[in-house]
Amino acid sequence: MTQLLNGKEIAIKIKQEICEEIEKIKHQKKRLPHLGIILSGNNVESIIYVNKKIQECKNIGLSCSLVELPENSSEQKILEEIYKMNNNPFIDGFIIQLPLPQHINVDNLILSINPDKDVDGFHPENFGKMALNMNTFIPATAYGIITLLQKYKIKISGKHTVVIGRSRIVGLPISILMSIQNDFGNSTVTLTHTYTKNLFFYTKKADIIIVAVGSPGFLTGNMIKKGAILIDVGINKINQGIKTMLKGDIDFDSIFGKASYITPVPGGIGPMTIIMLIKNTIKAAYKRLYKSN
Ligand code: NAD
Repeated sequence: MTQLLNGKEIAIKIKQEICEEIEKIKHQKKRLPHLGIILSGNNVESIIYVNKKIQECKNIGLSCSLVELPENSSEQKILEEIYKMNNNPFIDGFIIQLPLPQHINVDNLILSINPDKDVDGFHPENFGKMALNMNTFIPATAYGIITLLQKYKIKISGKHTVVIGRSRIVGLPISILMSIQNDFGNSTVTLTHTYTKNLFFYTKKADIIIVAVGSPGFLTGNMIKKGAILIDVGINKINQGIKTMLKGDIDFDSIFGKASYITPVPGGIGPMTIIMLIKNTIKAAYKRLYKSN
């Protein structure tokens, strides 16, 4: 029997808690948390993600501002927008939507974000703090995975986790979080990537598998052991005639019945990611405004 880890449902519950928090802030007549977003270029998926983030801010009552820049914007132009957000006292936290056009050096941009406003948790100061188990902003997707596992009371400690994919936004942070000495960590983690030989060898032994590769149906039933817990981060667009479908990195049909848990796509890690970004924005606002007042 395979149980779905319903990220959509959990995200709605977290959203209700956040809405109560926002009501308290309103009641105290304090300024509402404000998320800034910088979007450069016309990557269709990025535009969809940004719209979802803005919509969720509106639903919850957060204010939000979007700076849209054309595909051919220079790095300097994006840096100028980052400095404006760093210095804008009404913006509590902001993100630069990734990926960016090829000619942009992402590292330069991330390094120029004020770490106190870095609600994606990508700045090395925040990433380092996360690795050292210090209080900081945790990258939203990794934060969403940990939270979902916690909400379902799935024990991570002592389990063997295999992470497939080592991107700085998903694979790397989740591999660190699962392994650190913490209530949600203490797992033995194997981080695999394109250079990993014989991936089967690792996945077959794993208690938990987190897949963030970007390849539809990449992980199949014959690659897992019975009872494995599967987290599917992948979001892949598949054209079926005139329809477009979303498919994860896990071949749902071949694992169903063999795995103990799986996150569906859509409705798994996606909604958790957005709500965790909002949680990080509120944390930034608290840090800057409310607690210090
Ligand atoms: P990425 O392209 O930056 O990284 C992919 C990783 O997969 C790389 O580290 C690479 O080494 C690894 N990889 C590729 N082929 C492999 C193979 N054959 N064996 C082992 N490892 C392999 O991707 P990303 O930004 O981490 O995104 C991955 C997927 O997750 C995409 O589908 C993306 O859309 C999705 N995503 C979803 C969310 C969400 O909110 N659910 C958030 C971020 C990314």
